[in-house]
Amino acid sequence: MAGYAAIVIGSGFGGAVAACRLAEAGEKVLVLERGKRWRTEDFPRGPGDDWLFDVDEPEKQHGWIDLRLFRRMAVAQGAGVGGGSLIYANIFVPAERFAFDAGWPAEVTFDAMAPHYRRAGDMLAVEEVPANQLPPRAKLVREAAATIGDGARLRALPLAVRFDSAWHYGLDDPHGEQHAKFDTNRFGRRQGTCIHCGCCDLGCPVAARNSLDLNYLAMAEDKGAEIRPLSLVRAIEPVIGGGYRVTILRLDTGVTMTETAEKVIVAAGSLGSTELLLRCRDEHRTLPLLSPRLGHGWCANGDFLTPALYPGRDVSPTRGPTITTAIDYLDGSDRGHRYFVEDGGFPDVLGNALQAALGRNFTGRRVLDGWRVMLSGLLRGRDPASFIMPWFGQGVDQPGGVMRLKRGLFGGGLELDLDYDVAGSEGVVQAMVDRHEQLSRATGGIAAVPPTWSLFRYLVTPHPLGGCNMGTSRDDGVVDHRGEVFGYPGLFVMDGAVVPRALGLNPSRTIAALAERCMQLMLA
Ligand SMILES: Cc1cc2nc3c(=O)[nH]c(=O)nc-3n(C[C@H](O)[C@H](O)[C@H](O)COP(=O)(O)OP(=O)(O)OC[C@H]3O[C@@H](n4cnc5c(N)ncnc54)[C@H](O)[C@@H]3O)c2cc1C
Ligand code: SF4
Repeated sequence: MAGYAAIVIGSGFGGAVAACRLAEAGEKVLVLERGKRWRTEDFPRGPGDDWLFDVDEPEKQHGWIDLRLFRRMAVAQGAGVGGGSLIYANIFVPAERFAFDAGWPAEVTFDAMAPHYRRAGDMLAVEEVPANQLPPRAKLVREAAATIGDGARLRALPLAVRFDSAWHYGLDDPHGEQHAKFDTNRFGRRQGTCIHCGCCDLGCPVAARNSLDLNYLAMAEDKGAEIRPLSLVRAIEPVIGGGYRVTILRLDTGVTMTETAEKVIVAAGSLGSTELLLRCRDEHRTLPLLSPRLGHGWCANGDFLTPALYPGRDVSPTRGPTITTAIDYLDGSDRGHRYFVEDGGFPDVLGNALQAALGRNFTGRRVLDGWRVMLSGLLRGRDPASFIMPWFGQGVDQPGGVMRLKRGLFGGGLELDLDYDVAGSEGVVQAMVDRHEQLSRATGGIAAVPPTWSLFRYLVTPHPLGGCNMGTSRDDGVVDHRGEVFGYPGLFVMDGAVVPRALGLNPSRTIAALAERCMQLMLA
């Protein structure tokens, strides 16, 4: 007999929903998460902290962010109990209707998703930034949209953040933690209110962000789910008589162990779930019937960031929630390209940590010194970070990326490889870059398009989607509309890996809503 009714692999937007709904239904659930359980006092802040999750040496380095560098694309993901919700910028926005017009199994429509979007939004208690608390960045976005005649496209974004309507920028020491108002949320966890400190991507010092450990996972644990951090799943194999055996490497002890369950829900994220299943099909050969489409149909969700310098204007990108506002071009009226422009802040400690890290190395110090000399003429000694506007955004790129296992350059074991040919998506990315430049010019800024794009067409995405795409059969997908893997009853994928196309805006609410839908069908 299997040890658990269900094992959930990963605790991000798919895994947390699955664990919560299974536990709520009274099932015996085990959640296996490769990252650690982060406490406020452990959030990375200084150069010596746990920044990186190293997939090559996970026992030695299991930090905050898993940054993978592939030939034509870099991908950033969170690691820890709560997955990407620990690191994300709190934008919890539904996809627009067009995003369901094509690419999905017939059952997954915008209307079918609507109640699940609502349920997920309710669990994460989304709010907009109160009108009296707009950060300078948000004001710049508004001004830019109005100046170019696109004021009607402005959108205030739903954020999974708790705000206090009495807080404002005019307070004495406004970002001091004394201004956070604490109480217990409806899942019994203590949270404060936002003090606009700008640290969202590195963990909130006052727990104002409604990250998954404070809602879905809290409810799962209270209903009996067992969450095991530092548990990296290496393989899944069917058990004779039913169910699956999961092989786990404990990152704290180095011990390998197994657990069994009647159902397994793989929710390790777009890269994590795809890599795990590729290894099961092609390396361990424990799941040989997995679809030949496994690894195909990946996209970057068209992410791009253009920093712009505003010599005479204090933009304060390090203050306020990381993203607050969008200018919506998803209607395709710009030469057929669909994209969503946002502001993008960054935590000041990130700059300090980078400076300290680079300061230790001679070349890095010279680069920083060069920058300082260049900027000081323009800024007359003021903090350069205050004058940078990070214009950010997403777009509908083509899902033509392919993940597969490959031998590394110097032999050794099989490694995950991602090949993404930008050719089919160059137009939408360039349209967004053009728009960033136009918005900068219109407000007195100087856009500095990263040479990684202008020279090398290299992209970075925090929004990987696809790899185990939903489809109608194993000929066009890896899982069906309920998330069940073709050929393997009781094995599911529920996370960003099943999303078969770009959404053109931040994807976490769609991932959570899809998982809500799959769980409702599973437990019906
Ligand atoms: C800096 C940053 C900012 C972002 N901001 C936003 C935003 O504002 N709004 C938005 O919608 N999206 C945002 N995103 C994207 C968002 O975080 C992801 O889309 C989302 O987390 C994906 O959900 P998921 O369930 O697919 O996977 P994840 O949330 O990545 O969860 C997967 C989990 O599985 C674990 N895991 C992986 N492999 C294994 C294994 N083998 N064994 C055990 N555990 C494993 C991982 O550690 C992780 O915890 C941001 C991302 C980044 C990096
Ligand atoms: S701005 Fe600061 S206080 Fe507000 S949610 Fe982000 S990290 Fe928390």
